Amino acid sequence: MKSLEELTRPNIWSLAPYSSARNEYAGREAHVFLDANENPYNAPYNRYPDPLQLELKAAIAKVKGVPAECIFLGNGSDEAIDLPYRCFCEPGVDNVVAIEPTYGMYKVCADINNVEYRTVLLDEHFQVTADALLAATDAHTKIIWLCTPNNPTGNCLVREEVIKVIENFDGLVIVDEAYSDFASQKPLRAELAKYPNLIVLNTMSKAWGCAALRLGMAFASQDIIALFNKVKYPYNVNLLTQQQALEALKDPFEVDQWVKVLIQERGRMMEAFRELPICEKVYPTDANFFLAKMTDATKIYNYLVDQGIIVRNRHRVQLCQNCLRITIGTKTENNELVAALRQY
Ligand code: PMP
Repeated sequence: MKSLEELTRPNIWSLAPYSSARNEYAGREAHVFLDANENPYNAPYNRYPDPLQLELKAAIAKVKGVPAECIFLGNGSDEAIDLPYRCFCEPGVDNVVAIEPTYGMYKVCADINNVEYRTVLLDEHFQVTADALLAATDAHTKIIWLCTPNNPTGNCLVREEVIKVIENFDGLVIVDEAYSDFASQKPLRAELAKYPNLIVLNTMSKAWGCAALRLGMAFASQDIIALFNKVKYPYNVNLLTQQQALEALKDPFEVDQWVKVLIQERGRMMEAFRELPICEKVYPTDANFFLAKMTDATKIYNYLVDQGIIVRNRHRVQLCQNCLRITIGTKTENNELVAALRQY
């Protein structure tokens, strides 16, 4: 791996970050707060929240098995996807490499930041080799984006290939494990200590059922996390989100139950789709959704919308012609979808 200084934009490396009022006294006891121009009334919302979310990170550290100092928390994964561009990629000069198809925000953030986005098409099993990814890089490639289980295809990438990319690329590898709770593979975040160039993304939006809270996380070396903390907005995770996330984390058992039921339902739904005359293929999945090739995805999509049922039409996505992406819902919702499709 190149040194972190080599990988970082010079203006970011030398950035003097904003120092908030609460940062400056941190660690000492106080009871009169006349430092932040807050209103003394309307507690608890009158006070700025913890800029580094230390209590929440301590709780996440326990659940995820990652040291608190190696955790960045942001306004959804969106923030954790955008920050690496702002930290590492010089607009108009640097580039990133990603698989295609994959989650759309990696490209949107590249475009916003004016960073070249190179793609390597997956094969017919929705897999990619490390060699193909590495061949797409050059001296200006700062990041390789991987997503496993991948969206919209649902499958996990072959682990040996992912490891080979991490071990052989001299820049940063960001692995988005948003759906890893639904997968049988061991999550890569467990390998973090081994790989200083690895950043793993997680979110509260999927297995944890908290998409409305907007809490995404990045796990990485302390040095990378320190860089993210320097660049992020000072109070990027609001008090309500921090409080509600702490509540949610108190009951990981409930999350395990949800995941178990969703995986069961996933199997049942895939079987039901296989039997539909309008379904040509159901792709294997390790996520809380699956991809199904239909006879005419757009027509079927519109038919379902008319019934008040919304799935995701991926017909225009490369390798996903005539595919619908089906998120697993409650048993009742799933049954309603299958019943509607049987009537098509
Ligand atoms: N990563 C992947 C791979 C996703 O599919 C999604 C949601 N569609 C996200 C991240 C979004 O996560 P968040 O809600 O934390 O922004």
